[in-house]
Amino acid sequence: MVVRAGREFLAIPGPTTMPDEVLQAMHRPALDIYSDQMVNLTDSLLRDLSDLFATKGRSYIYIANGHGAWEAVLSNVLSRGDKVLVLESGRFAIGWGNAAAAMGAEVEVLKGDWRRAIRPSEVEERLRQDKDHKIKAILAVQVDTASGAYNDIEAIGKAIKAAGHPALFMVDAVASLGCMPFEMDAWGIDVAMSGSQKGLMTPPGLGFVAVNDRAREVHKKADLRTPYWDWTERDGAEHYRKYSGTAPVHLLFALRQAIDMIFEEKLENVFIRHRLLAEAVRRAVAVWAEGQVLGFNIAEAAERSDTVTTVMMGNGHDPAALHRYCKEKCGVVLGVGIGELQGQAFRIAHMGHVNAPMILGTLGVIEVGLNALAIPHGKGGVEAAIEWLGESVSA
Ligand SMILES: *Cc1c(COP(=O)(O)O)cnc(C)c1O
Repeated sequence: MVVRAGREFLAIPGPTTMPDEVLQAMHRPALDIYSDQMVNLTDSLLRDLSDLFATKGRSYIYIANGHGAWEAVLSNVLSRGDKVLVLESGRFAIGWGNAAAAMGAEVEVLKGDWRRAIRPSEVEERLRQDKDHKIKAILAVQVDTASGAYNDIEAIGKAIKAAGHPALFMVDAVASLGCMPFEMDAWGIDVAMSGSQKGLMTPPGLGFVAVNDRAREVHKKADLRTPYWDWTERDGAEHYRKYSGTAPVHLLFALRQAIDMIFEEKLENVFIRHRLLAEAVRRAVAVWAEGQVLGFNIAEAAERSDTVTTVMMGNGHDPAALHRYCKEKCGVVLGVGIGELQGQAFRIAHMGHVNAPMILGTLGVIEVGLNALAIPHGKGGVEAAIEWLGESVSA
């Protein structure tokens, strides 16, 4: 017996559910990549991406996933042997740092913990010790998609400033851009990057980078530059140089549609929607946790992301069984635990094209699975989520 049919629902943190309008926006013939329409499309997207990052700096669109955008950032500002400080809060900043090391940088990890966000005071302390400014760049993620940690990027930016350290502050917003506030210029970020397939509701395949003037100065002397990623190449006048070749025409139409939808809803409303739905998830998880098997990975409530919740499962229970049940019986695909949390956790994504029925449906299916598999849990998780939404979404 199953109660799945039709479209499988992805509750994974990327690729995320795409609106039908975004899918339909791609169903059209290719454009002449030298046409005015193409040039205008590119110009509008670059402008809007800078607005999403909240920067007066310039944006770049790469035909790449997040890993590609990481490499784009590193290759444009680093030179062989440069020291990079990675701020750990899970898996993703570490992955970015590994790429830097493989490219020839010297990488130091400021040890963190998978159960908490980065501590800005520890960043400041480390930077103050670096008296002769060996550290050239600092890498951090706003949301770590593995641990579910939300890092206070504004506070880290202030800590860097307080230490008086000139290193470039480079931030990964793959799992947060278009879902949670991000203020590149106001928070002292020099380079920011993101991808298309998470909060931005667009197919995988586009990577975004935004750059301020300080990073652009460093770029001039960087010796890890390669032609495909190079900002200077992409600043050239001919349109094809914006993509170092043929434009990803259909993905750009999809992105145009997705950003139009975000702007139509208004960014601040999109943030509120994410916060409300994330809290609904957290209310449910908090009740389930009363059964002593499930619990939040991130200990502090204020450090939990509004885009993904990582739920630990202990006492000998296997999250793979719940994952399998939800997918095979009910057609809901949860995220699995990755990295250090492999086999110990599952993840509920709530980013991008998400609404109340999707989130309540996902929570309901998880509760069905917990019951069917006799995994101990506090009763009434979905009810708590419903109660929260009823209280906070006023009539
Ligand atoms: C998904 C993700 C990435 C990697 O993106 P890919 O498109 O899978 O290469 C990087 N950083 C964060 C925070 C992510 O969530």
